Parts: sequence; structure tokens; C-alpha cells
Amino acid sequence: MPNNRDYYEILGVPRNASDEEIKRAFRKLAFKYHPDHNNESGAEEKFKELNEAYEVLSDARKRASYDRYGNVATADWFGFEDVGFGGLGDIFDAFFGGTTARAQRRSPKKGTDLRANLTLSFEEAVFGTDKQFEVSRIENCSACQGLGSQPGTNPQKCPNCNGNGEIRRTQQSLFGRFVHTATCPHCKGEGTVINNPCRKCKGSGKERIKRKLTVTIPPGIDEGHQMRLGNEGDAGIYGGSPGDIYINFSVKPHKFFVRKDSDIFYELPINFAQAALGDDLEVPTLEGKATLKIPPGTQNGKVFHLKGKGIPRLHGRGKGDQIVIINVITPQSMDANQRRLFEELAKTLPAAKTPEVEDG
Ligand SMILES: [Zn+2]
Ligand SMILES: [Zn+2]
Repeated sequence: MPNNRDYYEILGVPRNASDEEIKRAFRKLAFKYHPDHNNESGAEEKFKELNEAYEVLSDARKRASYDRYGNVATADWFGFEDVGFGGLGDIFDAFFGGTTARAQRRSPKKGTDLRANLTLSFEEAVFGTDKQFEVSRIENCSACQGLGSQPGTNPQKCPNCNGNGEIRRTQQSLFGRFVHTATCPHCKGEGTVINNPCRKCKGSGKERIKRKLTVTIPPGIDEGHQMRLGNEGDAGIYGGSPGDIYINFSVKPHKFFVRKDSDIFYELPINFAQAALGDDLEVPTLEGKATLKIPPGTQNGKVFHLKGKGIPRLHGRGKGDQIVIINVITPQSMDANQRRLFEELAKTLPAAKTPEVEDG
């Protein structure tokens, strides 16, 4: 929150103002611009600005430094970046016994998010599937609907705080009248007490339940992908919405296909004769067999693309390819006849050229 405005100007006091004058000016303006009192746009900014100015000018050391170096206040000079609005609310509470804390205490809170890990087979990940899994989560008690009171009875107004959830105490001090507020210890800020706790949840209003959930997994999910199931996590507090479930996927490897994003790699072994003469071969794909034409003179490592025989793209149209890599197998054992034929063949073949390293 870098600020180039003059702190004295912000508080409307002269540069030689006494501590008491600064304090008085801040109290007056902070009361005027506190977001709980003032809904005008810019009031919150103004309130933060006031707090920043007061933080510096109310501290003799910081004020002296500010007076000496002028308007060079930077965010990290006094660590203002770390002052959240809650912190400023506390300053306000110290002065006026503000309402910030109470306003936040019983507001609805979203339930906790949960995690689940699902392992899919290669095919399930490729084609998608409906998968069932079990989750242990906190739900509102089914007997008391989350109220915590035995059915037929109601929670009662807390006699200690008269239902406010907080205790106020007024104190006279040097700076004027202080109002301290504290959370009511009897009802822990709820404002209600349960005289007949629900027997099922013992008054907590919540119970832990194991649920079987079914998730529809779209085609194309891959290892490391994550999916969010909205509102399936723990129940919320004070009427807040439930948390979510985040599912992390792992995918088992395939016997001979290797996946890379939406493409499938497959290594096809062929023999010398097929490589030299060419052949029509059947290759397995994700959806049955396909025919691949190997032209005569195919080299080891040659790559063929079977267009659209890969995996559906998760966030796009169409599918990837199946990529076939040729692996020419050299015979490791031959019978006498095969050996003779190779020797015959060898006499007709030109020697393979060895590349030579040139000098220099
Ligand atoms: Zn209950
Ligand atoms: Zn109470």
C-alpha cells in the first residue's frame, strides 16, 4: 500500500501536532470512515489510509523517521503489506469496541474440501467410465437436521449473553471510554445453548458418514489430471455451502501401448524379408485391428501415423494418432538352409559404405 500523500494531511493535523491531537483526529476520522458505518465507495480505502498514517504518526520513532525523510513511505518500510483488514479492525476495536469481530464470527463458512485418489485402467482413462468410490465425510445430522437439539426440542437463547454471542464490558481509561467485547464463553459465540442434546450427534449437529459416490469420467483423462466434484465435501458451518471433492487420477500402464498426451505409441516388430520386400500387416489399435502397409525397403525405426487412432482430446475436438515404430528383428538363430540362403544373398549385395572421418 504505497502512499504518496502526506500523513499529516490525511489526518488533518499540523506538522507540530501533539500526540493527543493526532489521536483525537484519527478517532474522529476513523469513526467516520469505518466500513461498518460508511458504505460510500472509497470509504474502506480512506479508512486504510487513515490507519497507515496513524500507525506512523502515533509511534515516536516512526514519526521522527518520517519527518526526516519526507514522503518516501513505501510498502515494506513498515511492513504495511502484512496488515490485513482484520488487523485494522483490531485497531478500531481497541478504540471503539467495534462490531467487526462480531460480524465475522457467525457468518456462513464453506465446508472443508476433501481429496480422493482414483486409479483407472488404461482403457477406462481412454474411453471414459462411471466410477464408484467411497468417501467419509461430515454431514448435517439426519436426526436433528444439524440443529444439535433432540428432535421435538429447540436450542434456547444463551442466558449468559442474552443471545448476543458476546460479552461487552465498558472501561474508563486515559483515552476515553473503552468497550471491550469478548466471545461468550458459555455458548462459544453461538448465542444459543442446547439443553436437550440430540442423542444421535450428542449435540454437535454433525455426523461422519461413509457415502458411495459415482463420478462420470470423460474420455481422455490422464495420469495426474484432477477433477472437482462441487458441493460433495464436508457440510458447511452456519448454513455455509458444503466443500468440494478433488479427485486425483492415476492410470495403470498398458501391456504394449504407451501413451503420450493424446497419441498412442506402438512398436511393431518385422523381419528382414518384410522390411526388404514390404508387407501388409495387421496392427492392434484401441478399437480393434487396423491394416498397415509396409513399403519395400522399410528401415528400422521408421515411423507410421495411423491418423485418428489415438485418444480423444479432453479439451478439444478429435483424437490423437497411433504412432507405429518399426523394429526390424535380426535373426539370432538360423537353420542350415536359412544360413545358406543368406550366404547366397550376401554375395549379391554391395558392401555397406563406412563413412570416413576426414582429416583436419
Ligand atoms: Zn443430531
Ligand atoms: Zn452466550
